[in-house]
Amino acid sequence: MKERYDELVEKLKRASYEYYSLDMPTLTDAEYDSLYDELVKLEESHPEWIREDSPTKHVGGEVISKFEKVRHVTPLMSIADVFNEEELLDWDKKIQKQVGDVEYVCELKIDGLSVNLTYENGELVRAATRGDGQIGEDISHNVKTIKTIPRTLKNKDSLEIRGEIYMPIKSFELLNEEREAKGEPLFQNPRNAAAGSIRQLDSKIAASRKLDAFFYHVPLTNYKTHFEALEYLKENGFIVNPNIEKKKNIQEVLEYIEKWTELRPSLPYDIDGIVIKVNDLSLQRELGVTAKYPKWVIAYKFPAMEVQTKLLDVIFTVGRTGQITPNAVLEPIKIMGSTVKRATLHNMDFIRERDLEKGDIVVVRKAGDVIPEVVRNVIERRENTEVIEKIENCPICGTHLVESQSKIDLLCPNESCPARNIEALIHFVERKAMNIIGLGENIIEDFYNMGILNDFTSFYHLDERKEELTELEGFGPKSINKLLENIEESKKNSLENLLFALGIKGIGEKNAKLLAKRYKTIENLMQVEEEELKNIDDIGPILAHNISSYFKDEENVELITHLKDLGLNMKYLGAETKHDDRFTDKKFVITGTIEKYSRDELKEIIESYGGKAIDSVSKKTDAVIVGESPGNKYDKALTLNIPIWTEETLKEMKDVFTRYDEQ
Ligand code: NAD
Repeated sequence: MKERYDELVEKLKRASYEYYSLDMPTLTDAEYDSLYDELVKLEESHPEWIREDSPTKHVGGEVISKFEKVRHVTPLMSIADVFNEEELLDWDKKIQKQVGDVEYVCELKIDGLSVNLTYENGELVRAATRGDGQIGEDISHNVKTIKTIPRTLKNKDSLEIRGEIYMPIKSFELLNEEREAKGEPLFQNPRNAAAGSIRQLDSKIAASRKLDAFFYHVPLTNYKTHFEALEYLKENGFIVNPNIEKKKNIQEVLEYIEKWTELRPSLPYDIDGIVIKVNDLSLQRELGVTAKYPKWVIAYKFPAMEVQTKLLDVIFTVGRTGQITPNAVLEPIKIMGSTVKRATLHNMDFIRERDLEKGDIVVVRKAGDVIPEVVRNVIERRENTEVIEKIENCPICGTHLVESQSKIDLLCPNESCPARNIEALIHFVERKAMNIIGLGENIIEDFYNMGILNDFTSFYHLDERKEELTELEGFGPKSINKLLENIEESKKNSLENLLFALGIKGIGEKNAKLLAKRYKTIENLMQVEEEELKNIDDIGPILAHNISSYFKDEENVELITHLKDLGLNMKYLGAETKHDDRFTDKKFVITGTIEKYSRDELKEIIESYGGKAIDSVSKKTDAVIVGESPGNKYDKALTLNIPIWTEETLKEMKDVFTRYDEQ
């Protein structure tokens, strides 16, 4: 453990040097933050280990000799971080405990580098980096190239002013394009580019880099509030970020965070969080500081969308259409709250274009709900890697692989490759296909291997094997009955579900609906000529050919006849909305995670009863559905006295939320 402690101190010190002094970090901020967090925890449990040079005891970087040193009049401190709502609420509680109710000021946390400006008798005399907090580097020559920074103040004030120098995203992209054309190394992000530009000896470089700055702090003022100090900055021509807002309480702060989490991608500059400050300066003084942070300010850090981790291995999987996909096996890492172990690598071209090798450190990105994706490798961290070889044979059935029409993908041509069959069976029961609840992927695979399931018709013969199923581990008579009921129920599905479930190449949920709506019965569809299908918008020649050949194939015709004999509906039923006083014409807001249903599923259910799922809570909201870790919509609902539906409430409505009826 002590060894780990020392290792962390060294690793973080090295990372800080690369980040602050070289402007060339090799760790992502999220990696740094996670190691830092581990260090803090170790120091809490083993205070006897704490080293003088621990990064928890010092602010940021160090001062390099190439610049003149500047001692700050008041130190530039760091800001303590929180990473979620709970930690923020804890911080607010501490504040309240010490000084009672407070007004906050919320600001965007600009991802650049801090600058301390010194004015004497109203003249800008010096600009310095934060350095180690006490002593910074004189960067006046470069800062003076930023045109928006005032050289003089209206009154002949002598004071320090603080802000953030940043590079707008557009300028960063242009700069990297130019560097690429010249074969120069690229900057990793706008922050590094800004820091790298400002810490140059030759001011011509900074002048060419299109930097800008926002100002947010006047350390020694006679004003009563932080907000008044910001007004002073504006009056003197400093650019203060226009999105700064006063907030009456922490609930309003949470709303601000929610709003900017959403709007963040639309900003022309990078932000890495929200800074929350106590507005009243006398309360700020009362709250005081620790060795590293003021206690009256906190930074709410946004979850990382990109992290770095190791690409341990590549495994190839076979999809329903025989398509082979290479998947990255990653050293598990948290991105936006969830642990990621796998990411798709799409195909061999994707691997080659990104020059990925086993053992590489790679940047992994997760945007919204999309499957994580490997963005690039970190070539500087390559050590003992191994080339990823293209496979020749199907990893499941061993058949020699062929290239797809587009020549991008590899395909297993074996129509009866078990992997393809299992995938097809899994697809058949999916919610948007036949929606057979109670058959997970593993069960289907086991049933396939045991010969219980072979093709789509075998689902509808499962009732004949009831006894056999009861003997299987994990299957009680009750769950089997329920499963058989669900299978029976699936026979009533509308045509589009069946069309999607059949897995006709290229027919997704949307096209299945389009065809069902247009042709009403499967018989009609089976008779349509390829020519006619081709002319339907959204279908086109390739899909038309796929559909037509699917229905010309004897085996498929036989399968459909068999399914029909088994009692499956083959007609389009149309979208009918059911009436239910609990839902029809009512407005709902969903917040937090409901165990049995995704947000989309809940919305769909509500809409199927003529209700509406909306985004924000108002007096007109009829009920707020509240799951695990709800957002501030929950608090708003409580304030407005809106009925709350918890998972318990949903369980009581088993007739609608049928999954609660399952064992
Ligand atoms: P910080 O950068 O997270 O927060 C403090 C800074 O925020 C201030 O100094 C100021 O420059 C800036 N800021 C932006 N907008 C502001 C506003 N409106 N009001 C006040 N301040 C504002 O903390 P830090 O101590 O400077 O650095 C620690 C962080 O730096 C780590 O959490 C990590 O993300 C990053 N870091 C990364 C590496 C790496 O290897 N990737 C190494 C060291 C540090």
